[in-house]
Amino acid sequence: IFPGSVDAAGQRATLGVLGGGQLGRMFVHAAQRLGYFTAVLEPDPQSPAGLVSHHHIQTGYDDPSGLAQLSQLCQAITTEFENVPAQALQTLALTRPVAPSAAVVGIAQNRIAEKAHFSACADLSGVSCGPYAVIETLTQLRAVQNERADLLPGILKTARMGYDGKGQVRVKNTDDLTAAWAELGSVACVLEKMLPLTAECSVLVARGWDGQVVSFAPQRNVHVDGILAVTHAYEGNMPPALATRARDAAVSIAQHLGYVGVLCIEFFVVADGSEHGGLVVNEMAPRPHNSGHYTLDACDASQFDLQVHTMAGLPLPQPRQHSPAIMLNLLGDVWFGADGQRREPDWYSVLSLPGTHLHLYGKLDARAGRKMGHLTITGPDILSVKTVAQRAAGLLG
Ligand code: ADP
Ligand code: MG
Repeated sequence: IFPGSVDAAGQRATLGVLGGGQLGRMFVHAAQRLGYFTAVLEPDPQSPAGLVSHHHIQTGYDDPSGLAQLSQLCQAITTEFENVPAQALQTLALTRPVAPSAAVVGIAQNRIAEKAHFSACADLSGVSCGPYAVIETLTQLRAVQNERADLLPGILKTARMGYDGKGQVRVKNTDDLTAAWAELGSVACVLEKMLPLTAECSVLVARGWDGQVVSFAPQRNVHVDGILAVTHAYEGNMPPALATRARDAAVSIAQHLGYVGVLCIEFFVVADGSEHGGLVVNEMAPRPHNSGHYTLDACDASQFDLQVHTMAGLPLPQPRQHSPAIMLNLLGDVWFGADGQRREPDWYSVLSLPGTHLHLYGKLDARAGRKMGHLTITGPDILSVKTVAQRAAGLLG
């Protein structure tokens, strides 16, 4: 699908996205920069992506007429969040190329299927998931309580619909587990052993229809209360041997899935000497990822550029990072002073620091924990990036 092209009926080359959040917004920006028209399907009239797209179809993700409109308008379609009904992608795929496919999104939507996939390609990827058990029924719950004391203390996670630490309960002992499962609505869950993390990292992979694969070096991520807070993207952000293993594992997981599009794989780095050789695969997101936002400012092709290239069948040049970078997530909390009053952050001071790149997503309502934007810091060397990041973080309180 050539950017800027017009078909015989006068229709412009248009790329579509299911979902209207910030990931959709940055996808729209990348597509438009190349000359594509864009269409967003999203019920919220004030969504970050809907606000900047040429077309905004304001219906539910599973609305048949909305989906028909989307496939009518677009030559190829992608998704920006994994909890979009896989059925919607399946419907769209009947008439248009859809990347990633409903099948792989279906796997990424369900921790049970996801872990089964990771285990299936563990020999190939050289990385396995941590110890866990599936709890879908009361019988399984009882069995875990009786036989899997090795998983405690652990974290009970719903198989579906979890994000940013939601749908998770920490469990100390067997009794807690009963209450935790009830608290999560007695739905299908996995119980994971709580691992002694020394670090977390993620790897972004892009794979085209023809099987061509490119990847970014792993970025190291710091989470606070289950939400990404800071991403460190520079050489030496983690031990080189682990970085190589994580990157190779991510590529082989994407290949094993026959994945098309941008895929992000999250890893845990665990205290060495463990049976996992220091690296455990956590989960995957079938889309660009918060931890890859630094690629917009620090690389010659961003994760969103690659998303556009993969779905449109354009070549995938190996992206090159031209600057070390640190990304600070801007949650709604930043808009509230110590007195609890809403205020505008001091952007003047932040933007007077060298190498700061501010991205706000156009959300009006600043709530605690809500992702409002991010700030990427780039610079000539790691030390200056760290220094500026520290000062920016200080200004943002
Ligand atoms: P989400 O879908 O919310 O991103 P994750 O499974 O990635 O869910 O969990 C969110 C965060 O919680 C992780 O980034 C990590 O900091 C912590 N966490 C999750 N599982 C474990 C575990 N088994 N051991 C230790 N920490 C964990
Ligand atoms: Mg996660």
